[in-house]
Amino acid sequence: MKMINLLIALRFGLIFGLSFALGNLAFATDGGATEYSFSDRERGQQILTADDNYMNRMSAAEIAIRTSSVTADKTVQDLKKLYQASVLDWSKAEIAHITALVSANKKKLTSLQHLLPAEVTFIKVNDKVEGGLPHTRANAIILPLSGGPLTEKLFYHELFHVLSRHQLDKHHSLYGLLGFKPCDYRGNDEVNAKSLTNPDVPAAGYYLPVTLDGQASAIMTYLHAARAAFDPTIEKGFGGHFGFGLLKVKTDDGKCIVDTDAEGKAQLLNPAATADFFAAIGRNTSYIIHPEEVLAENFVFVMMGKKDLPNPEVMERLKTWLFQPILK
Ligand SMILES: [Zn+2]
Repeated sequence: MKMINLLIALRFGLIFGLSFALGNLAFATDGGATEYSFSDRERGQQILTADDNYMNRMSAAEIAIRTSSVTADKTVQDLKKLYQASVLDWSKAEIAHITALVSANKKKLTSLQHLLPAEVTFIKVNDKVEGGLPHTRANAIILPLSGGPLTEKLFYHELFHVLSRHQLDKHHSLYGLLGFKPCDYRGNDEVNAKSLTNPDVPAAGYYLPVTLDGQASAIMTYLHAARAAFDPTIEKGFGGHFGFGLLKVKTDDGKCIVDTDAEGKAQLLNPAATADFFAAIGRNTSYIIHPEEVLAENFVFVMMGKKDLPNPEVMERLKTWLFQPILK
């Protein structure tokens, strides 16, 4: 997901519907080249309404926010209906633009072949889906039209999420690049009632060991709904409803448990006041809501050859993770 408020503004455009061979560089022959396609409405609707771990873990508050309901009484079925009606047809010009973008990046994409699924598909939607924020589901990059044509930067950001989802069994090492470790996390009633599901983030828990006030502790990134339902007076619509903080957790025998205060309340830390957090994730990006997003931004830097980053070592670690099979 690519958000705007505390985060960054992005938008984009489109893609094409044909497939093409990606050349004969390394890995292109290992299982064939990835096909880039444009989903028609029916296929887009199937992917958007699928019961994946985005649809099946939403709180009532976040369904209300996503459906612009001022009361938290909407269901996943209501959300599916909205998404069903929000898939759009591609125009020839849109397809041509995205096709050209993918084609211009053919060589770089071929170098990622060993990590990508057999197909990446583009779905065009209106701004009712995820508040008009570009995001991914399954092997699909979902693009609203409001932000203008798809940029290379946004394409690589979203492609990372598709790549990452396709490499689910390697998430421990991937998030480990930022110091995060896996844990069995269930939250508690207070935390779960406000959780806001990022479609680009896996359901599994990852925590970062930190030192707080001289004590060994642990935190997890926590994206949450700042309101119990949709509030039409809030600026920035859907994106304006997001809250973010670092949730203090206790780790025990592979589990992460919410570390509550003396009154039994969850403790949320300000990232800016948590030095160990930035020591782990670096300061290459301000889009810090989950290690998956920090890595997506660093992936953009890898693919676009970004220079002069404050923490180039973070980007270099990701680069090694991505291309190690080629280096061997
Ligand atoms: Zn993202």
